[in-house]
Amino acid sequence: MIPSKRAQSIKPSPTLSIDTKAKALRAAGEDIINFGVGEPDFDTPANIKEAAIKAIRDGFTKYTPVGGIVELKDAIIEKFQRDNNLSYSRDEIIVSCGAKHSLYNIAEALFNPGDEVIIPAPYWVTYPDQVILNDAVPVVINTDEKNSFRLTPELIREKLSEKTRALILNYPSNPTGLSYDHDSLQRIAEMAIEHDLYIISDEIYEKLTYDGFKHTSIASLGEEVKKRTLVVNGLSKSHAMTGWRIGFTAGPKEIISAMTKIQSQSTSNPTSIAQMAAVEALRGPQDFIPMMVSEFDKRRLYILERLNGIEGVSTIKPVGAFYVFPNVSYYYGRASNGFRINSSLDLSEYLLDRARVAVVPGSAFGNDDYIRLSYATSMDNIKKGLDRIEEALAGLR
Ligand SMILES: *Cc1c(COP(=O)(O)O)cnc(C)c1O
Repeated sequence: MIPSKRAQSIKPSPTLSIDTKAKALRAAGEDIINFGVGEPDFDTPANIKEAAIKAIRDGFTKYTPVGGIVELKDAIIEKFQRDNNLSYSRDEIIVSCGAKHSLYNIAEALFNPGDEVIIPAPYWVTYPDQVILNDAVPVVINTDEKNSFRLTPELIREKLSEKTRALILNYPSNPTGLSYDHDSLQRIAEMAIEHDLYIISDEIYEKLTYDGFKHTSIASLGEEVKKRTLVVNGLSKSHAMTGWRIGFTAGPKEIISAMTKIQSQSTSNPTSIAQMAAVEALRGPQDFIPMMVSEFDKRRLYILERLNGIEGVSTIKPVGAFYVFPNVSYYYGRASNGFRINSSLDLSEYLLDRARVAVVPGSAFGNDDYIRLSYATSMDNIKKGLDRIEEALAGLR
């Protein structure tokens, strides 16, 4: 059988495939340090698990309304009010099977064939492929490390056309760990209003910030921008719930209703049990989050110090998420025992091969000068992994 042109037009998620490769090597008995992971290494808090167990015991195991149970929608509405000073009603909220699914539903509900969608690079690996899957055209805009990898109105203007429909923002960012301050968001919001662009705002790392960085949602900057923004968030990162598959979107009710219709013909509701767990995650005690963040923060500072201590490696200090994104292009053109490095993929393969360390090549995120390391792994692993990286890089001449 022959897969459709649509299926052939995209690639599997590169971050998941490197993770798979590292896990396979480990299963084969290799001692691999995995900096490729994209999920917290913490267990889901016990109170959340208990809520799910109770849901099972209570027989809450049937179909629910497609866009989520009322109790969860209300908990999400409270979350937006509390954290982002944003007011939504139930018909402006939809719960989906993870934030990735929320983003996919948005792409289906919003894009027409040929619509251009602005994606600042470095980008989360999934955005371009979701755009392509919906017959729209990703317009990638390279951002500069000197400007903290931020998209600016000037950069947008260069790529603006009649067909530009939307832009996708992700802050704090996967892979850079950087974010947008209030003023830079304000400028983008004004640009979007002026040129009638929709904004897809992926704020999944909102809760994971450091050095007192205060997250602002672009939708909270005024009614005009709120009317054209879809805010995506979820529990995977904030509550260590990647496997539960709960994500949500807030936005204008016409789009939320279209997304709900699409979801009704594809997945139907997110898992009933996970929805009950999500209510507890949003309404129950939140002390898990600062505990996790303070642990991540220690690792962040350590990994930064180690990376910046390596010859030729430079890394900007992230303010959020659990990734560092060092520039490693200094090593391009060098070689060790016949292994020549000319790209981030070469370097990642070299590190896996020679140092038994898995990282993700920057090319997966649209910038070949970098690699991504996740510090969602133990301090012991980080220490051991950095020793290995340092040694392997020193071997390149
Ligand atoms: C992890 C991640 C998501 C998706 O999370 P789900 O597990 O699908 O809820 C979305 N956006 C970014 C940038 C991510 O890193």
